[in-house]
This record gives sequence, structure tokens and C-alpha cells, in this order.
Amino acid sequence: MPVQCDFCSAPDPVACYRAKEFGITSSEQVFPDTPVYNIGGLDHVATDDIHPIRGFGTMAHPLWLACSQCSAFIDARNLDGLLEHCVTRSQREGMLPTNLPPQNIRHFYRDFFSAFFHYLQAREPYAK
Ligand SMILES: [Zn+2]
Repeated sequence: MPVQCDFCSAPDPVACYRAKEFGITSSEQVFPDTPVYNIGGLDHVATDDIHPIRGFGTMAHPLWLACSQCSAFIDARNLDGLLEHCVTRSQREGMLPTNLPPQNIRHFYRDFFSAFFHYLQAREPYAK
């Protein structure tokens, strides 16, 4: 499996970002005693407690690789630019699920990237 950008799936990432682990969820998707936090209207958990059946079941890995285009958007904290680039590229490459309306996909990307920016801690050197 060749290494690729975790945002837009382009080959040859050039940067690595460390973010606190998070999972995107809603209160129905976690165990009853799990705290659900909210960043700008987005429900999420910052623990490993996503419900195994109802939740998405995965936490984001703390290290994210980015290609040169995505890292430029990330360094500028440009959420809209990053979103536009990733959705456009994924559509062009035919990598988006065809059974979902485009606005749902855009919404999912926005939630995911909003959480990423919220939990972003540092840019680290990326050694190939
Ligand atoms: Zn990229």
C-alpha cells in the first residue's frame, strides 16, 4: 500500500501532523456514561468509548500525513480551502461513495476536518 495523503489521498505526502485522538459521534453512538463534547455544534468524543455497534467504531489516528497542497491549507488553518480541494479531488478520482448525496459527503468532510483543526497539536517532520 503506497503512502498517501490522509486528507485527499494524493500520493507523496510531504508533511505530518499530530492531533489529539478523536472520534466523531453523537450521544446515541456512545455508552451512556461517555462524555460527549461539542465544538461549534459538532458532537464528538475524545475518548475510546464510541459504541462498538452504533458508533463509527474507529478513532482517528493521531498522526496525519498531508500532501503539499493539503499542508498549505492546514498551515493556513484554511478549512474551506482544504474542504474544497479534498472534495474536488476525490470526486475527480472517483473515490467518493456514489450512494450518498454530495452535500452529505461535504458535511462529513467538514465535520471531520473541523475536529482535526480543533485537535491539531503540531506539525512534525515527515521522513519518507
Ligand atoms: Zn492532500
